[in-house]
This record gives sequence, structure tokens and C-alpha cells, in this order.
Amino acid sequence: MLNIGCHLSSSKGFTAMARNVLKINADTFQFFTRNPQGGRAKEIDVKDVAEFNNIAKRHNFAKFVAHAPYTLNPCSDNPSTREFAEMVFVDDLHRMEFVPGNYYNFHPGSHVGQGVEQGIAMISDLLNKILQPSQSTMVLLETMSGKGSEVGASFEELQQIMSRVKLKDKLGVCLDTCHVYSAGYDIVNNLDAVLTEFDKIIGLKNLKAVHLNDSKMPFASHKDRHEKIGQGTIGKEAIIRFINHEALKNIPFILETPNDLNGWADEIKMLQEAYKG
Ligand code: FE
Ligand code: FE
Ligand code: ZN
Repeated sequence: MLNIGCHLSSSKGFTAMARNVLKINADTFQFFTRNPQGGRAKEIDVKDVAEFNNIAKRHNFAKFVAHAPYTLNPCSDNPSTREFAEMVFVDDLHRMEFVPGNYYNFHPGSHVGQGVEQGIAMISDLLNKILQPSQSTMVLLETMSGKGSEVGASFEELQQIMSRVKLKDKLGVCLDTCHVYSAGYDIVNNLDAVLTEFDKIIGLKNLKAVHLNDSKMPFASHKDRHEKIGQGTIGKEAIIRFINHEALKNIPFILETPNDLNGWADEIKMLQEAYKG
């Protein structure tokens, strides 16, 4: 079986998300830790997380992915934005310990004109400040499409961040299929070469999760517009080759496709049937 799920609303808490996971025959999921445009997180409900942890264990869920808000930017040129990034990181990682042993994914940041070197330094500085030896959560850098001044659209930039971080066992990568295709990695015609390059530069052992999306935009467009599986420029065949690649066994696949719960259930069913593992 493929470890697969989709991005769910967290507004009704963890138990409600677990029930939706079961409803669509998934075994993982993703959610925003707070409003993606920023703002406060909901208080942890101890009963809710206890029930969630029970369901996840009983049904053998794969690791889930918590997604940081889009407004978290460790390499902004604005000091108060950088302070907000630190506050969110510390607070979210604290709350993640109520549901231990999962992933926390974030967009590395946008350097907004300061240059990519400065951006990389600021991102790794923040990670060195907030990562703790005792935490059970692994933080994931997401591969980006390279729109605007985004850091992390190349494997080299992600590697440069990782190489500066001290607690290396607390840090991994989440590969977004739409983003890498938009960034100029041809997973449609050259999947083996892309994964070989990933392995050479970042190391496949550091690839911990996948955002499985088709794309509305052409190859190497540096635009970030997700599409339903099979309706975009990546296409169903390439996605099916992707989930079946031997280098990607036992990784949670998260759909961030524009769907409702029924649409995701259909995509999951189609992908499970196409999975040969
Ligand atoms: Fe993302
Ligand atoms: Fe993504
Ligand atoms: Zn995206």
C-alpha cells in the first residue's frame, strides 16, 4: 500500500482530521498549524490529541505533515517578520510534541532583494536557534518553484541550508512535484536523472515526504499553480511512474490538489490501484 493522504482543514481538531483520513482510505494527511496567512494557533485540546493518537496508532497511520503558515519568512528584510517566523516556529514545534514523531514542513523563505546567500544564512541561523536535541518532530524544507525571490527552488540551495544546520537529524526535505517541475526539474521525461541529482546533492535519505500535485503551468515556468492529478502539465502517467519509483518507497505522499474530500478519495483510489509496490 502507498502511504497517501491529502491536505485537510484543521478547524475541528485532530480527531476530526483522523476521521476524514479514514473516510477517504488514506493513512496520512497534512494541515496548516494556523491560518496560512498568519495569526494565532488554536489551543491544544488534550482530549482531542489523545483520541487522535489512539486512532493513528490503531489504524497504523504513516507520519503526517504539519504545514507552517505561508507568512513564515525567516529571511525577510523586515526584522519584525523574522521575529514572527521565530515565534511561530517555537510555538508550533512546542505544540507538535503533543502528537510526537511527525513532520513540520515550511517554505524556506523569500529573500526579498537581499540576495540568496543572505537568505540561506538567515534560514539556517533560525533553524540553529530553534531546533532542539529533545524534539521528536523532524522539520522539512519544501522544494519551491522559484517564484519571486523564493529560496529553495534548486537542490543546491536546500543543500546549502542543510549543510549549515547543526542538528542534522532534525532536518529533512519535502519534495513538491508541482514545484520541482516548475523549477525546471523534468520529472516527466527524466525522473531517474532528477532523483539521481537529488541523491548526489541532498541525499535521498533526507527525502522524508512528497507533495503530490499536477501543475497548471508549463515546465520551468517558476509558477506555483497546483492541478488535479492527470489534468495538468505533468500528467497521470508521470505521476504513476513517480509513486512507483523504487527510490521513493515508504514515503508519505500528500495531495495538495484542488479538490474536495470526494475528489481526494477518487485520486487516492486511482493511485492505490496504480501502485505496484
Ligand atoms: Fe507548501
Ligand atoms: Fe507543497
Ligand atoms: Zn505550491
